[in-house]
Amino acid sequence: MAVTTVEPAEVREVERRVLTTTVEKMVAWARSGSIWPAQFGLACCAIEMMASAGARFDIARFGSELFRASPRQADLLIVSGRVSQKMAPVLRHIYDQMLEPKWVIAMGDCASCGGVFNNYALVQGVDKIVPVDVYVAGCPPRPEALLYGVLKLREKIAAGGGRR
Ligand code: SF4
Repeated sequence: MAVTTVEPAEVREVERRVLTTTVEKMVAWARSGSIWPAQFGLACCAIEMMASAGARFDIARFGSELFRASPRQADLLIVSGRVSQKMAPVLRHIYDQMLEPKWVIAMGDCASCGGVFNNYALVQGVDKIVPVDVYVAGCPPRPEALLYGVLKLREKIAAGGGRR
């Protein structure tokens, strides 16, 4: 029986033309490119979040320009600013209304750890209320920093991480 040998050039040509993957990886890749944030601003950081959606910073480059007014149409909650104790149950309610899978970015020092407001009125880090995937430092973080956070989240989602 004749043995057929495969030339390295043929192998390279097949590798160049054929893509193999899994459904899970395809879905994760697609999700990472179309993260829709909830239209939800809390404090001064929200001004920078709004700026990120404008023409200058253009969050649409990363597929996230559709800020949804309904949490049921959003899969990203950007906690943009300090969270008061009174606001905490509201924030949790919004998070619970979002469909799975969903992700959270803590934007700014206040959302991440309470920032300069170490007092009884504010939640000392939103991760005490909802699980956080990415923390963006700054007071306030510039829109570029938020976009960097979105890119980090995209990497995490594409790798299949952060799903709940
Ligand atoms: S981190 Fe700074 S800019 Fe953001 S909500 Fe707190 S005080 Fe305002």
